[in-house]
Amino acid sequence: MNITNAIPGNAEVHQNELLSVLLTGISDRIASHLTLVDLPVGEVLHQTEHAEAYAYFPNDALVSLLSVIENGKSAEIGVVGSEGLVGIEGMIGGRNPYIQAKVQCPGTAFRVPNQLLRHEFNRLVEMRGLILHYMQSMISQIGQAAICYRHHSIEQQLCRKLLVSSDRLGSDDIALTQSTIADLLGVRREGVTAAAGELRRLGIIDYRRGHIRILERARLEERSCECWAVLQTQRHQFRPNVSRAGTLDRRPSLGPVRPARLPVARHDTLGNAAA
Ligand SMILES: [Zn+2]
Repeated sequence: MNITNAIPGNAEVHQNELLSVLLTGISDRIASHLTLVDLPVGEVLHQTEHAEAYAYFPNDALVSLLSVIENGKSAEIGVVGSEGLVGIEGMIGGRNPYIQAKVQCPGTAFRVPNQLLRHEFNRLVEMRGLILHYMQSMISQIGQAAICYRHHSIEQQLCRKLLVSSDRLGSDDIALTQSTIADLLGVRREGVTAAAGELRRLGIIDYRRGHIRILERARLEERSCECWAVLQTQRHQFRPNVSRAGTLDRRPSLGPVRPARLPVARHDTLGNAAA
């Protein structure tokens, strides 16, 4: 894996909401163990057969959680962006051999040793509350995926997928191919091609060279199944908040996350230092 971006000096603005809360209100040890890594599209962060050594807090990257079956086929059961954490099972000392974490949209993330997170999780009651809160949101997301795949059309699923990706990325331009979307949804490519073609004919989206652009978001929301709205509600409901007393609460939450400038080393995901 090649490092494509030089780090400005020895600092980088981090954008991950969960990490921001951990650093500003809960743990004073994590900051010195952060490593900024590039996450290229298709990179597998957590293999199904391995207990991984690191957890990842995505900044502008988007990571799919895939449920994989014996014949190699898979479907996306969750997605993690700047609101969350990849590798949460390592924090509680376990692993799920059926879940694979794969980079869907490229970007950067902060990598932290699982051993440290596990230690802090066991040491700090506020951190346990925050992580369990986040786990609850992931369980809700996985449950919604199950109902969506069973009862909603491919076009509805495509709309939902584009909206969720756009929300997590904070952009209407999504670096996804129709083939990748078909794999994530666990459906045939032809079905996604037909649905995307209809949305483009209606002027709701456009696509070229591996990018899909949302042109009319309100109409995309109208054509999505209810799952997108449910996921939005859940995302805000479970968004972390830490009061001045250090106790966790629900929304209204931390509000705009203040970017923190951190002294970090930059590596690729294999641990090679950036030049
Ligand atoms: Zn749905």
